[in-house]
Amino acid sequence: MRKNIVAGNWKMNLDYEQGVSLFSEIVNMVKDEVVGNQEVIVCSPAIHLYSIGKLATGKVSTGAQNIHQAESGAYTGEISAAQVKSVGAEYVILGHSERRAYFGETDALLAEKVNTTLKHGLKPIFCIGETKEEREEGRFFDVIKEQLEKGVFHLSAEEFASVVLAYEPVWAIGTGLTATPEQAQEVHAFIRQSIAAKYSAETAENTTILYGGSCNPKNADELFSQADIDGGLIGGASLKSRDFLDIVK
Ligand code: PGA
Repeated sequence: MRKNIVAGNWKMNLDYEQGVSLFSEIVNMVKDEVVGNQEVIVCSPAIHLYSIGKLATGKVSTGAQNIHQAESGAYTGEISAAQVKSVGAEYVILGHSERRAYFGETDALLAEKVNTTLKHGLKPIFCIGETKEEREEGRFFDVIKEQLEKGVFHLSAEEFASVVLAYEPVWAIGTGLTATPEQAQEVHAFIRQSIAAKYSAETAENTTILYGGSCNPKNADELFSQADIDGGLIGGASLKSRDFLDIVK
């Protein structure tokens, strides 16, 4: 059975002490909430990863927000998958629209990053989603299909089993404009059908697909109760332990 996941994406927020203290609060608050096939993940800036990795439990795990595609070497300022793995992280967010837009990350580069991530035993949280313009023009299914095909569909079924997907409409990220549960469900169902067509119905059933984009304690319940929405990737609301806990609940 696929996992239900709530993952926080802290982005470039919180200094070291604030991050460690928020993570400790999260671990304490969610410990009785997370059962069975549920998981909570916190994707922090790299500077927190070592310390929060020490505080992580079976129920709350940690992830990075990016890695470099190369194994190691002369890439000043970058962080490798092996380094992320060495501090106990299990996940890496890849393909976030902010990285695609502000750092020019292309589908081809992201496919390389996905490969490097998997090679080091980390699991990608691979983000896909259309811009406002692409939605208004009715092209969103095509855009999402292309992001899947170029970013992750080169993987074998066995490799793909480690991938978590996150549908994040760009127009909903940090804007307060959440996709309606119907809009999100429509795309999630389309993603699951695309996985079934590429791999198998079983692989599609087993893939966790998160929704991200202005998810908050008020709308999480309705979004997560949709048949193909298996949890959320949470930005702004993951920075307050109470809001994050309410979303987990
Ligand atoms: P948001 O961000 O929840 O602040 O909209 C989501 C994300 O970017 O992953």
